Amino acid sequence: MQKRFENVGRLDGKVALITGAASGMGLVAAQLFAQQGAKVMIADSNEAAAAAGAASISADGFVAASVGGDVSNDADVKRMVDETVGKFGALTVLYNNAGIMLGDDDSPVNTSEDVWDRTIDVNLKGVFLCNKHGIPAMLASGGGSIINVASFVAHNGAATPQIAYTTSKGGVLAMTREIAAIYARQGIRCNALCPGPVGTPLLAELWSDPARKARRIVHIPMGRWAEAEELARAALFLASDDSSYMTGQSLIVDGGITGAYTTPE
Ligand code: NAD
Repeated sequence: MQKRFENVGRLDGKVALITGAASGMGLVAAQLFAQQGAKVMIADSNEAAAAAGAASISADGFVAASVGGDVSNDADVKRMVDETVGKFGALTVLYNNAGIMLGDDDSPVNTSEDVWDRTIDVNLKGVFLCNKHGIPAMLASGGGSIINVASFVAHNGAATPQIAYTTSKGGVLAMTREIAAIYARQGIRCNALCPGPVGTPLLAELWSDPARKARRIVHIPMGRWAEAEELARAALFLASDDSSYMTGQSLIVDGGITGAYTTPE
């Protein structure tokens, strides 16, 4: 008999904590995950935007709540996890998406120590702290799926430099593999999602300069940046049981950038 696959309810029964979900890819993922049956906690340093995101998901008849906090602050992250478990009774999907790219992140020679520290604090320590507090809650919930957001730049060096950002994302990949190895037999999977350029507020600022934008687009075989939804769908695969035998991997969704030596005319 032929199998039937349903494209709804892929996260039924799951509880997802998504950081940086007040904007960009995180917000679209929160909407998609909730529509697929998950109870979703939106965590973001922009508390008002996080609350607005949760309210709009709830108004559509799905389940979401919000919590404010900074992922680089240990007490804030503990509170994000505690409030998720307190409100929804479990934590089974931990989507560590919050990240920053600062405008004056540049070459090793031209990047200030402040820019380096803030970028590493949010992008790398933030993912560490979310795992530090999230993993015990996931173990208590019987396991689950962790998605750490890295970037295609963790795989390829970029000649348009952003050394702190690139380094932070490389660290996320290494952390992901180790967490996967440690917890594989305790029911926790951990994978990295590596987007190419995505049309979100983070990129809009960086690419507001047309010359800089043109310089980057030329390296994308598909000749365009991604829509946030294209990344949210990849995250859905990692969050759901569809990826049940996948851990320690890097899912690259980049319009062909890392696969190509050169791009078509
Ligand atoms: P975005 O700027 O649209 O959203 C990021 C969200 O994170 C914002 O709501 C912001 O308030 C929140 N945030 C920032 N610092 C925080 C902190 N310290 N604590 C809590 N929340 C914080 O960004 P996006 O483009 O959707 O990016 C999401 C993730 O994807 C980031 O990790 C980013 O590095 C990564 N990424 C983005 C691209 C891209 O092209 N946009 C490409 C590769 C990887």
